[in-house]
Amino acid sequence: MIAPESPSSAGNPLQVLQHHRLGQLLKILLVAMSLIGLSNVYFGNWLTLALIGLAGGLLFSSYRLLQRGRSDEAAALMLWTLTSLVSLIMWVDLGLRDSGLLAYPGFLVFAAILASRRTFFALLAFMLANVSLLALGNLQGWHVNRLPPVRIGTWIDIICILSVIASAVWLLAGDLRRALLRLGEENQRVRQSQAQIEFLAQHDALTQLPNRVLARARCDQALIQARRDGGGAALLFLDLDNFKTLNDSLGHGAGDRLLQHVAEQLRCGTRSGDTVCRQSGDEFLVVLGDIADADAVAAIATQLLELLALPLDIEGIEVSATCSLGIALYPVDGEDFDTLLKKADIAMYRAKDSGRNNFRFYDAQMNTSVLEHLQLITAMRLGFSRGEFSLHYQAQYDLRSGRVIGAEALLRWQHPQLGQVSPAVFIPLAEKSGLIIELGAWVLQQACAQAAQWHAEGLSLVMAVNLSPLQMRRHDIDQVVVQALQNSGLPAELLELEMTESMLIDDSNGLTEMLGRLRALGITLAIDDFGTGYSNLAYLKRFDVEALKIDQSFVRRLCEDSQDEAIVRAIIQMAASLNLHTVAEGIEDAATLQRLRELGCTRGQGFYWAPALPAARFAERVRAPLAAAVPQS
Ligand code: C2E
Ligand code: CA
Ligand code: CA
Repeated sequence: MIAPESPSSAGNPLQVLQHHRLGQLLKILLVAMSLIGLSNVYFGNWLTLALIGLAGGLLFSSYRLLQRGRSDEAAALMLWTLTSLVSLIMWVDLGLRDSGLLAYPGFLVFAAILASRRTFFALLAFMLANVSLLALGNLQGWHVNRLPPVRIGTWIDIICILSVIASAVWLLAGDLRRALLRLGEENQRVRQSQAQIEFLAQHDALTQLPNRVLARARCDQALIQARRDGGGAALLFLDLDNFKTLNDSLGHGAGDRLLQHVAEQLRCGTRSGDTVCRQSGDEFLVVLGDIADADAVAAIATQLLELLALPLDIEGIEVSATCSLGIALYPVDGEDFDTLLKKADIAMYRAKDSGRNNFRFYDAQMNTSVLEHLQLITAMRLGFSRGEFSLHYQAQYDLRSGRVIGAEALLRWQHPQLGQVSPAVFIPLAEKSGLIIELGAWVLQQACAQAAQWHAEGLSLVMAVNLSPLQMRRHDIDQVVVQALQNSGLPAELLELEMTESMLIDDSNGLTEMLGRLRALGITLAIDDFGTGYSNLAYLKRFDVEALKIDQSFVRRLCEDSQDEAIVRAIIQMAASLNLHTVAEGIEDAATLQRLRELGCTRGQGFYWAPALPAARFAERVRAPLAAAVPQS
């Protein structure tokens, strides 16, 4: 037999399947017709045989239609042929008790699945009419079907009809089952991806914590609840200390690991009803509902800081995630998410300013200090143009010879009303506002000019100038330095640049090449505040550093604190092994100086000799041999 070709409009998978099933059904029917035909030849039922022959011919036409891709017409022709054949046989044979009646429901099933709706209802109407007419004929007596005893042919008819219908229905029902199964799976997949999309829209992929969108919703809920119960709530704003340094020095993989660790610890340290969310980068929010008073919040904040400070092993290095935490309370600090967030943010900055790894509650005072900061920045810009800034110089001594070998240039701001403003106050603001770029360039020019003048007068000192991270991040710092040297005529060997560790770790923007160019000119590099960052030896070698400046905080307690002494000793030994100088900052008394010399420190500066002084007084002091001397041991 010829296999039906796929319809030309084979796009719709359902149509393809219908086409395929119709072909199978027609084949089964043609085989069944042949069998029934043979049985009629055997029993000599010539009239039935003629009918079967006609039906067989029509079914074959239907098969040809199907081959030409006209499935609808093929299905209709097949169903009408079968229904008419069966109906006719019922009229001539056993009427309403004819076994052909068994086939009617089967045909209806085929029609429902394979043919059009119109064909289905037309067939049903025809079947009902036929059955009714037959009944009427038999009841009225104008057409009576006699009921002969059961013959072998009856049994064969029933077996054929049941088998054909059963196999066709089985195939079609199988399709239906599979379709339902696929639909179910598809549904499941859609539901899963929908849930996934929803989750991603509301959560942070790295830590799986709610993101700020969800945090806002959760905070709103907590506030509604607090309002209803007359209770309190709190919003905590948490920012990791030194995350950037860690990320830059150990790599982003380590940074990610730390963020995940922080997320875990925050979840551990809060109650099940609280929300922890990742606000952005290294910032997290914690929403605390049902809060009795500020003490309860302080207890949770303390616990969070303790949990985060627990050391974590990342790639064999022990890291602890200290953070600064700002707290805003409902209803005292604000009644909505945005207000609370702003105030918690301000409080967080205050916590950072006051030494990191601690928490601060928001208070109205802080808002004024933000305002003050803004006013101060404006005043600084104005002051710079009015010449309120100047440089003071602090001497650096060679601890072995006791001679002054250099000077550190330190910026001073004399404000007409505020008086002397401490660099600890204005330098961070100058960095925040970007003014440090201009200010820093000016410092370089001034310091080089001063050093060049002293050099010309016979006082050859190495001038140390502090650089800010923002200056380093600009591409043109080497040009600014070269310009300052050219303008002043200062030999490059007499200029030293002081940088902090974190500035060197951030090796973007071709820092290595840039510092290499400066070194090639003869300028020396010193690491300021050494010991407070992620002391990493690799970059000391890479950048060809000349000196390490031991941070004042270790020098100050050198004689009292054995741990500080151990740190200073380690720094000095390490520097010696790398052939670097060590400069102790903040030497205030003879005992500390003595101890430093015993430990092998090579250079020092501090109030023990003198604070930073205006140029004229500095030169005066340095030229007076007694004042400059270091007591020899
Ligand atoms: P720094 O670079 O660590 O400077 C040393 C600071 O320690 C100076 O404070 C100095 O006056 C102070 N100091 C020196 N000896 C002693 C001592 O024996 N005891 C004590 N307690 N302190 C001592 P200063 O001048 O207030 O500067 C603070 C910071 O401001 C500097 O720390 C530096 O980071 C920054 N800074 C100052 N001038 C500049 C500048 O021109 N550019 C940049 N980028 N930063 C500057
Ligand atoms: Ca310095
Ligand atoms: Ca320092």
